[in-house]
Order: sequence, then C-alpha cells, then structure tokens
Amino acid sequence: MTKPDDSSLDPADLRIVEERAKGLLDRADAWDRFPIPMDDLLIAANVKVAPHSAFDPANLVAYLAGKAASARENIKSAISKVLGLYDADENLIHVDDSVVASRQTFLKLHETGHHEMPTHKKLFRFFQDCEKTLAPEIADQFEREANNFARFTLFKGDTYRQLAADSAFEIKTPIKLAKKFGASIYASTREFARTNSRACSVYVLERVELVEGDGFRATVRRIETSPKFREQFGIPTDTTITPDHELGRVIPIGRKMTRPTTLAITDKNGIAHECIAEAFDTTYNVIILLYPVAALTRTTIIMPPVSR
Ligand SMILES: [Zn+2]
Repeated sequence: MTKPDDSSLDPADLRIVEERAKGLLDRADAWDRFPIPMDDLLIAANVKVAPHSAFDPANLVAYLAGKAASARENIKSAISKVLGLYDADENLIHVDDSVVASRQTFLKLHETGHHEMPTHKKLFRFFQDCEKTLAPEIADQFEREANNFARFTLFKGDTYRQLAADSAFEIKTPIKLAKKFGASIYASTREFARTNSRACSVYVLERVELVEGDGFRATVRRIETSPKFREQFGIPTDTTITPDHELGRVIPIGRKMTRPTTLAITDKNGIAHECIAEAFDTTYNVIILLYPVAALTRTTIIMPPVSR
C-alpha cells in the first residue's frame, strides 16, 4: 500500500498554520533568501537549538527522565529513535545532527512549528518526534500541523511553485530547486508534483533490489500527483515496479539518470496517452517524473484531398 497524502488538514486549520508560518518568514525577513536562513528564523522565533551532546543516548535519557518527573502528563507517548524535540519550558529544540542536512532543516522547522502554534504549547509542554510522528500520514493533528508549517516555511508558500513554473519541465528542475531551497530531493519532487499546474506525477521508489528471475524490483514508497493528473488519470496504485511494468524501462540500473522515455498510460476513460517518464537515483530513492504529452487514440488522420 502506498502512503496517503499529508496535507489532510481542513482548510481552516491549514490557514491558521500558514498565517503563523508567514508571520515567522516576515519577522525573519526570510522570503527572498535561499536556502532558508535558519539562524535568523530561529532568532525570530526565539528558540534555541541544543548542542548536539544533548543527543548522546545517556544525556537524552537523563533529559527525558527529568522532563517526565516535572511534566508527567504533558509528555507525548513513548517513541522509537528520537529525531527531534521541542521543550516549551526552555524554548529549546533538539535535532538529531547525525541525519543529512536537509532532514535537519525540516526537523528544525517542524519543531519550530510546535513552538509557533499557541495551541500546541497550551496542551503539551514537550514534543518528541520520531519517524512515526514525522510521517506524512500521521493521524495526530498537531504533527500534521507542524509538518505543514515546515513545508510552508521551507518552500516559502507559493514561491516554489512559481519558480518551478518558470523553469524547464523536467526532472532536473526539482533537483535544482531542492538545492536552492535547502530541501531534500524527495521533498522537492513531491512539492513539484503537488503544486504543478500541468498533469504530472512523481513516483518515489525505495532502493532498487536486484532479484533473481525478475531482474530487479523497486517498492513504491509514495506517488505524488498534480491536481490535473489526478483528474485525468486518478491516483496510481502501483506497489512495485519490476521489468515488466510500463515504468520498468525507466528504472536507472547502474546509472544515475534515465533520459526522457516515451511510454503509454491509460486515463480514467480508457484512452491511451503518450507519456514521458524520466528517472533519477538519489542513492536513497529512485524518483520518476511521469507526464502525458498527447492522447494517442481518437486522433483524426487528415488525408490530403485526392485529385481525380
Ligand atoms: Zn512533532
């Protein structure tokens, strides 16, 4: 089963989150600075990032134990590996600095989101985040709010969409924009698809496994679609890509990228469309950009008049 969408906040809640994020971008004067000026943002939010020693297992356990004693009721449920913390009593953020830089950026923005949302602090003095609470399909309202806060701040509201629209329509664009915004390629390609005005979808695959018999297999981690793609083709339900899948030819094996490749995809009405797919291997994931270029059936072939 592929993972559902994460923007599942109702419009009123989303607006509140976005107003908060806008306010912080204003205060930090961060709208036109790339990648996001994290230090200024944290100063504007009045939060500090704890030194990395706080994340040594022993220190972390002691820190959490201290918190448990003072705020027993207000600590969220036990978690797996701690990736981020927010402590409202101390205006303090902890982020696991062993993860890649773009992930740390997202974590800092997520924790800042907890800090910037007054409702969060009112209910919980302390947030601990792990893979589970950060997962896009998280059921917890506050975590979805913090994720949306991070997304809005990172991509500066509509700025990403506008820059993508002004760039070439190709997989290199979200890769370049990832660098510009300080986002992961994964987050950037998702943002590219979900905000695009054209019909397109992005497949995020787990690392390709070489399998005896099949040749290879790649598990679909997530499929992000643009509104127009959804309307025309629905949301794809593929769970694995193997050589006999129509996208099988696009999987880069032993190379970083696959050039634009033509293939046919059938829409909701059973009409085949000529599509282009191109892929990029981030080493963590394989990302495929897929978009239609023309309907293949119902083409009218106009014959030149025959002279008699
Ligand atoms: Zn959180």
